[in-house]
Amino acid sequence: MKAFFDERQLRHAPTFYFRRGAAMPHQEQPQRAEILRDMLAGEGFEIAKPRDHGLDPVKAVHNTDYVDFLPTAHARFVESAGTEALAIPTMHPGRRRGKEPKDIHGQMGWWMTDTSTPLTEGTWEAVYWSAQTAIEAAEEVLSGAKSAYALCRPPGHHAMRDCSNGFCFFNNACVVANHLTSKFKKVALIDVDVHTGNGSLDILYERGDIFFCSLHPDPATYPTFYLGHADETGEGEGAGKSLNVLLQQGASEDDVMAALDKGLAAIKDFGAEALVVSLGFDMAADDPLAAVNVYPEGFAEMARRLAALNIPTVLVQEGGYLGPSLADNAKSFLTTFREATA
Ligand SMILES: [Zn+2]
Repeated sequence: MKAFFDERQLRHAPTFYFRRGAAMPHQEQPQRAEILRDMLAGEGFEIAKPRDHGLDPVKAVHNTDYVDFLPTAHARFVESAGTEALAIPTMHPGRRRGKEPKDIHGQMGWWMTDTSTPLTEGTWEAVYWSAQTAIEAAEEVLSGAKSAYALCRPPGHHAMRDCSNGFCFFNNACVVANHLTSKFKKVALIDVDVHTGNGSLDILYERGDIFFCSLHPDPATYPTFYLGHADETGEGEGAGKSLNVLLQQGASEDDVMAALDKGLAAIKDFGAEALVVSLGFDMAADDPLAAVNVYPEGFAEMARRLAALNIPTVLVQEGGYLGPSLADNAKSFLTTFREATA
């Protein structure tokens, strides 16, 4: 199993964001990707750089105007507010009636949902190459590989069709799932990050050709809130093609495996020919954003169960923060998955 990574993804360097009304050190640090990259190298994974596939595969799942807003947004913000200010939205449109304004601050509220996606000088480059890394891994599987791992950063699964959310700008996993439909009639995306794949749900909700499943604590009481409830099962052609499996906060490994098995059974029933995994390691018991209790051996077991579907699979990196076991969890999952799909 080949891994893909581009160093330019390290250039998004957020300092802080607001959580529960307080400024907090930003959790989604470049060091996360460095730790994962170094683990891959240490375990003998071949790490390749992505080619440039352009923005068409991204615009296939995102609003074009949103995609076009991002490349110049940081420079325009700095021109307006200077370099000391944090490039976050401070105004929001509320209901989506009305029009996108021309002012940078108004536009930021239009296209960004919260304070967790501050724009920094290198943000666009990192976001761009994070998406290219994902697309390259999809290309690898389209070319016949059984599996590929995209070390993406910033992550993507909270990004919705027309806005950033929860550390995420482009929804890499949805870009991959959509890309795979050029060859595979039915694709499944399963999200095992501890947080809900709310962006993926938003993007895929009416798709009949991509089944989506996410395991996460109840969004009524756990961030990122709003989406991912059990009764959200898809609409139109996507009716019955979204599955949210809710976990209790504090859930054990056995609980998580039972939830995973529910998702896997639904994916089999759907008849998926290819799989995308939104792979977060923040189900770890010692993750800074921990909500459930998975340990390195639990991540290996998740890898075995996912690999047992025995269909071409793209693993897309999502969350998993700077807790003590990040490298161990990633090593445990990825080396097991590599072995199982060799
Ligand atoms: Zn997460």
